[in-house]
Amino acid sequence: MSFFSFTIIRSAPFRVLFPLLLSLPLCISVDQFLIFLTPYHSLISTFPYIMLSIVIFLSQPFNQGATGLVALLMVVSFYLVQRYVGIADLTDIQKFAFCLLVFALPVNLFMIHFLPEKRLLSRFGINYLLLILFQVIWCWLLLEQITNENVSWLWSAYLKPIPALSSSPLLLIIISIFLTLISAFIVLFRNANFDHTIFINLLFSTIALIFFDTPQISAICFSLAATLLLLGIITSSHELAFVDQLTELQGRRALEIEMEHINGLYTIAMLDVDHFKLFNDSYGHRTGDEVLRLVAQIMKQTEGNASVFRYGGEEFIILFKGKNSNQCLPYLNELRSKIAKYDLVIRDHYERPILDKDAKNCGQNGGEHKTVNITVSIGVADSINNRTKLHTLGADEVLKAADKALYRAKSGGRNRVTNLRFA
Ligand code: GH3
Ligand code: MG
Ligand code: MG
Repeated sequence: MSFFSFTIIRSAPFRVLFPLLLSLPLCISVDQFLIFLTPYHSLISTFPYIMLSIVIFLSQPFNQGATGLVALLMVVSFYLVQRYVGIADLTDIQKFAFCLLVFALPVNLFMIHFLPEKRLLSRFGINYLLLILFQVIWCWLLLEQITNENVSWLWSAYLKPIPALSSSPLLLIIISIFLTLISAFIVLFRNANFDHTIFINLLFSTIALIFFDTPQISAICFSLAATLLLLGIITSSHELAFVDQLTELQGRRALEIEMEHINGLYTIAMLDVDHFKLFNDSYGHRTGDEVLRLVAQIMKQTEGNASVFRYGGEEFIILFKGKNSNQCLPYLNELRSKIAKYDLVIRDHYERPILDKDAKNCGQNGGEHKTVNITVSIGVADSINNRTKLHTLGADEVLKAADKALYRAKSGGRNRVTNLRFA
């Protein structure tokens, strides 16, 4: 799958819309789903256990602790639903137990959004698990104490379902939908992997709650949620391997794979920030990092169907497929001049220099501002063999040539684009 599609998969709107779209057919035609799935009855009820166990197992080596916590919570809830809550002729105590569970599940899922450290085997992870255990014991003790008479008033006063809508209590549905909506907003604003995981599970547990009297609904919903969790682990491990964490551009490994498969006519440009060591020394490494992020942002806007990679340090690669180096020069010169013209406003805060285009407007808050400009040098080469005039050069040779062109751009005075063929 190309980087482009992974970028979409990782975007916040996709992370909210995809599970919603997936749940739509389920909500609209749940009966059809059931007819289709009837032959697989026993598989469906074991599938969530299998998938969630895989997710818990993989979450540790893949460093996805929150996903592990969520999956653990879902396994326990699924077990409790399957084991204790039938769907027909529930006694009032069973209804009460069901309510405790469907209240506790979304609330506990939602809490994971705010856990400061989201690893299973960490202080917070262990405390969180202890909290879950405490709740299970507390509910169990409570259920031992109460009788049908104790709880029937609760059911009729607060937990009454509206049969036309759902057989589950309206109050619990409202709480669950409310938490799912807030979770969706958290995904939209923060877009972290673990937020996405929590949202998916809130969504599908809410659907299971709404359609609770439909046979197998919890198995179907938990299966879908577990499948999405597994996909989430796969996409985030792809992200770790191929995306540069600082700039969010494609990283070196992605470039190497691209280089292995590339052929025909293409151009490689190598971009290096000028005097970057000096910049780091003057304004600090953190401000340097901000500059690299900014350069990456500007590079992403390069026209001409360019693919941009971070090659390492303050060096980047721009790849143009199907174009010779001359055709790419206008795009590269435009990029070079855009970076050179960009006024970097450095708030000279003693502890935390902040680099921000809008920092000029924050002047009232104190801190001295200084405007600086950075420049980049770019070396360009294409796959056309100068002797044969055919595009037959291998990616390694083109990359080497671009590096040589970059060297010439540097020695020629920096802040320039040098095309090796005409240098
Ligand atoms: P030139 O114009 O010749 O390219 O000079 P330069 O100072 O940019 O070149 P040099 O290769 O000597 O220095 C590169 C510097 O880039 C050194 C290193 O501190 C800095 N650098 C590399 N990676 C990072 C990074 O991820 N963040 C920050 N802040 N600095 C980095
Ligand atoms: Mg360099
Ligand atoms: Mg440099």
